[in-house]
Amino acid sequence: MRFLRTALTIVILGFIASAIYISVLTFQRQVALESVGLNNVTWMVAQAPSEFARLEQRVSSYAVGDGRTDEAEVRLRFDIVVNRLKTLRASAVEEFSNSDTRIVAILNDLEAALEATRPLLAQLSEPGTPAKILSILEPIYPKLARLSTDANVWNIARIKADREGLFQLQWASSYISAGLIACGLSLIALLLVHNRLLARAQTVLQQKERTLALQNARFDAALEAMSPGLCLLDADERVIVYNQRFLTIFGFDGRSQIEGRRLADLISTDMLPDSASGDDRELGDTDDIALLNDHAYHLDNGTVLMVTREPTGEGGWVYTFEDVTERHKAQDRVVHMAHHDALTGMPNRMRFWDCINQALRRTGAQDKPFAVLYLDLDRFKEVNDTLGHPVGDALLRQVSERLRKAAGGDMVGRLGGDEFAVLHHCTDRTFESARDLAEGLIAAVGRTYHIDGNEIVVSTSVGIALSSGASMDADELMKNADLALYQAKADGPAAYRFFSPQMEEKLQHRRNLEADLRQGLKLGQFELYFQPLISLETGAIVLGEALMRWRHPDKGMISPAEFIPLAEETGMIGALGHWALQQACEHALHWPDSVRLSVNLSPVQFRDEGLVDGVKEVLENTALDPKRLELEITESVLLQNNAANFNALHRLRGLGLTIALDDFGTGYSSLSYLQRFPFDKIKIDQSFVRDLGTRPDSSAIIQSIATLGRNLRMQTTAEGVETKEQLDIITEAGCTQAQGYYFSPPVPEVKFRAMLSEKSIAKDGVHVA
Ligand code: C2E
Ligand code: CA
Ligand code: CA
Repeated sequence: MRFLRTALTIVILGFIASAIYISVLTFQRQVALESVGLNNVTWMVAQAPSEFARLEQRVSSYAVGDGRTDEAEVRLRFDIVVNRLKTLRASAVEEFSNSDTRIVAILNDLEAALEATRPLLAQLSEPGTPAKILSILEPIYPKLARLSTDANVWNIARIKADREGLFQLQWASSYISAGLIACGLSLIALLLVHNRLLARAQTVLQQKERTLALQNARFDAALEAMSPGLCLLDADERVIVYNQRFLTIFGFDGRSQIEGRRLADLISTDMLPDSASGDDRELGDTDDIALLNDHAYHLDNGTVLMVTREPTGEGGWVYTFEDVTERHKAQDRVVHMAHHDALTGMPNRMRFWDCINQALRRTGAQDKPFAVLYLDLDRFKEVNDTLGHPVGDALLRQVSERLRKAAGGDMVGRLGGDEFAVLHHCTDRTFESARDLAEGLIAAVGRTYHIDGNEIVVSTSVGIALSSGASMDADELMKNADLALYQAKADGPAAYRFFSPQMEEKLQHRRNLEADLRQGLKLGQFELYFQPLISLETGAIVLGEALMRWRHPDKGMISPAEFIPLAEETGMIGALGHWALQQACEHALHWPDSVRLSVNLSPVQFRDEGLVDGVKEVLENTALDPKRLELEITESVLLQNNAANFNALHRLRGLGLTIALDDFGTGYSSLSYLQRFPFDKIKIDQSFVRDLGTRPDSSAIIQSIATLGRNLRMQTTAEGVETKEQLDIITEAGCTQAQGYYFSPPVPEVKFRAMLSEKSIAKDGVHVA
């Protein structure tokens, strides 16, 4: 096309040049014709000899004096010749005059002759003068005649040259005409080519248009198929492109509403910003839409949008609005789950901690005291283990509901398991309201529950810690509440205790005791005492129960009720129990074969997989007949229906020893345990024996257990027999063995051995101690 355009330009320029050239040629031709026609040099030169001859003739006539010629006539002729000379020297003839030096010389001669004649004309009348003049003029005439001939020859030559020029012009104009025709033809050809090219370009253009339309359609389809709302802004942040989703999201009904409008004017006021990165920035009335970027925005209708923007090449922006409502809800759920307990929906430990910290900060600023009430259900584990987890869960839900109601406006959280806590805002500085709340909570939890046909009674212990206002943190406050709870548990069930610094001292004491315990085991500060079990049939000592004693170098004798739980908590019970078994077996070797030995096993010892092997090893080492050994366990060993523990019990029994169920009747469903494991003996808890005088149903219970034992072929031992009266009742009830201060308290082994050598000590009520 470019070439074509250049070619066309050249052709058109050619036309113009030709036209100019033709007019130049025509002009030249015109000039040539004019010179041929008008400036007839031959004629002008040919006049000169005749005029000159007439002058000579008039001079002669005058000289003759024929009367026809006067002086004036002569002068006139003279002037005509002078004029002719002027004419010959004029421009029209100049070309000829200058063509030959001879012609110039002739004209000069003529001029000289005339100039010589001119003064003589004044004395023409004088005789001799005409003759003089004629003598001057005479030689000039032939020259002029020749000049006329020359002019004729020169003119013919010139006409010939002009004709040739005209021919040339003719040819040139013919060439140019041919050129013009050629130019015209090529112009037509070029136009044809141009048209063809133009048509082709048009086709390409149409094709391109179709492709573009297709692309546009695809682009539109893609735009509409996009799930996020999208809008394209120009450099002035005005909307130029958008999809239907964008309209739908913001409830715009048409293009007129948005096209060309600034995005900030369209949406910012409808939205409440909610930062994706967590920092809640208030957008307010600002129209800086850059703030929208990377933020989640809540629309009035609950939709949450994630806004992102990308710059375009033209200085504008592409905004996308993704509906993240569901994701947001899921996030909210996750956040809720992270802060709430799944079972009860209550705030969890983490959330509760946060709230305490907040409350502490506020307390610092406003000096408004608050209390943390730390609750732990008493014996919940047993409910859970005996009635199953679903019942346990239902119970926890009901407990939490009651706590919520009882707490009123105070926040209740579940810290885990059966532990709850209440953040109580005190009404005054006496903390009376905290006390009232604790009592209210205990009463609420203590009411009977009915779950799946079970009547369940649980209680809760409450530890209360108060915010001191001074630099305290949640950890410290909760630690205080925990300590108070610990004390309440020890004093409970269903007790509440306020934290006091003495509790911390007690804790310190416990810590010291713990350290001493480790040391004591190494230094051999532990001893075994033995308490006899009497056969109610024969009155003989049939068994000695090993009971541990700690002879502390500073604190004197420490009760197992104090150090066994500590040893259990610290894991030292394993070593301690192993030592007791080894020691007891060694002692028993010195007793008569008829007297058996019983050793207590802590439930914690069952966590040790090596327990059975340890017992086996002791039996092997001491060579004590396994039949002489009885191991006492409490029903908590069988809680949770623990398969591993059952397995351990069977393996122990497989060693040839017997297993007794200690403290029977204090647990939750002791009877069911009798079904699950074939115990050799039931030890009725001393609390039933103690109550014999005061509660008539105790003897019935003891009687029932004795009957049960007989039917299941188990021995029944009544513990804690202190009086003859109690002895009579349990004997009557059908128990097979008795143990208690009535016969003997636990005594050192030496003393116990001495006791064994005495015959029949108890049946008749003889006190052995
Ligand atoms: P337990 O197995 O029920 O032991 C019987 C407890 O009742 C002993 O307390 C004993 O002194 C006490 N007792 C016996 N007769 C009477 C009585 O007539 N009246 C009263 N009021 N009490 C009587 P002790 O020796 O203080 O032991 C307390 C508990 O410590 C034991 O209760 C047992 O559970 C635990 N214990 C003691 N030694 C060991 C041991 O070597 N290993 C383990 N795991 N626990 C032990
Ligand atoms: Ca015992
Ligand atoms: Ca017992």
